[in-house]
Amino acid sequence: MTNGDYFAKLAKMRRDYLGDRYHSALQRLRNHDALPLIPVAREQQAVLEAQIMAELCSGGRWWAHPFGIAKVDVTFSNSAILTLDSHHVSARENNEHKQYPASEYAAGRLLPSAEEGMQVHGPLGLRVARIEDKDLTLRHADSREAQVILRACPGTHWQQHIDERLEDTRKAGFRPLWRERSMTKHELSDQQQFPMVWEEKQGLAWIGSGLLRRIALFHTSSTAHSVSSWITGYEWIVELTTIRGLPLEHDRFLARLTDPTWGLPLRVASHHCFCEMSRRGPFGWQCTYRLQATGDRKGGLQLRFQADGFARKRLHRDALLKAGADRKWLERVLPERLINQAEESDR
Ligand SMILES: [Zn+2]
Repeated sequence: MTNGDYFAKLAKMRRDYLGDRYHSALQRLRNHDALPLIPVAREQQAVLEAQIMAELCSGGRWWAHPFGIAKVDVTFSNSAILTLDSHHVSARENNEHKQYPASEYAAGRLLPSAEEGMQVHGPLGLRVARIEDKDLTLRHADSREAQVILRACPGTHWQQHIDERLEDTRKAGFRPLWRERSMTKHELSDQQQFPMVWEEKQGLAWIGSGLLRRIALFHTSSTAHSVSSWITGYEWIVELTTIRGLPLEHDRFLARLTDPTWGLPLRVASHHCFCEMSRRGPFGWQCTYRLQATGDRKGGLQLRFQADGFARKRLHRDALLKAGADRKWLERVLPERLINQAEESDR
């Protein structure tokens, strides 16, 4: 392989796994300004990234990219920079889609607060380190090195969103925790009260961080138009929803996710595939894959590939367009012809 071929291959991988633009990735790789591989996050860095993945990726909103994260960059110091979509959209029946800034959403989900005598709301130990222009740097109270930068669109006023969050938190009678230097008594007591929950989250950190560092796969290597994710015990669950009439293409997605060089060290432990059965009738179905570590790490990943009906798909397509989704991608995951056909047969 020539040097040119080598960089071209890496640039494609950066595009598919990290969401980088091909030509920009190529340039950066040639200038030795980008990592040629995706490194594993160190302990506290993985915890911080997994906390952010869990909070930002719960779904239920329409974004230009799955989860509203357009791109991830892993820096030479092994921290992460997440480039956010500018806004998300709520799909309304009257087609008056309302837009909300991604930065406001992120501040609302990520900044922790404490309800006296009750549990902590938001990720334990997450702290605001600094704001510089459109970058919000988050860190973990237990670590000097761990950090994640949220890069918002130009014109974003992080401070304004944080001030609004502060006002809401105080109005509710809660205590804001995101400026505290170290872990607060509220957070420590939360950890002690629910040790199993904390242990499970720590155990799953490598999966959350690993998924976040490959977030573009959900956009580039799947036929899903909608993705959501949550944690149950020692399992990280991701649900990928594909419109009926398109193949679920789970084998392709799994191959990329478990690629020995670019993927996560996971193997399929069990699965139930209904693709063959689905060809006999127009039923909704779900193929479920449970993956476990190839080594001795704890925790597992459950991927649910769902085939969804046509209800509200015109509405969802319009919402994705308003969110700024790429038209080529949209035509691949929610093709106009399938929606037209469904509307025709309903008449
Ligand atoms: Zn299947």
